[in-house]
Amino acid sequence: MKINAIDKRISQLFKLLGSAFRIRLLYSIGYGEVCVCHLEAVLRKRQAYISQHLMLLRDTGILEARREGKYIFYRVSDPTIFDLLREAAIIQSIPTQDLPEPAGPGILSNCACPKCEPDSNANQN
Ligand SMILES: [Zn+2]
Repeated sequence: MKINAIDKRISQLFKLLGSAFRIRLLYSIGYGEVCVCHLEAVLRKRQAYISQHLMLLRDTGILEARREGKYIFYRVSDPTIFDLLREAAIIQSIPTQDLPEPAGPGILSNCACPKCEPDSNANQN
């Protein structure tokens, strides 16, 4: 691979990470899998706004999407990205114990996705 192409590929990734909201989005998905309505409940932003960022991250391969019924679930394609974010935090002198754990989205009472309400999913089928 030519050095110019390498520089360009790396800068593409940093460009995608050059958004505080997208970093928050990645930590909210973590090592788990999550639908838009779930992120809406967690991040308290409009669905259109969240979807716009999800699409960008999916189109550039940062996220993978999977359809399950009427829901589309997103997950991080390569969790190594959390190591990169951790290194970035260290460079920024952020105490690593202050970093969020990218564990996964968890279960919410104000989300009706099949992961938060398994019963509602059973009724659909
Ligand atoms: Zn949910």
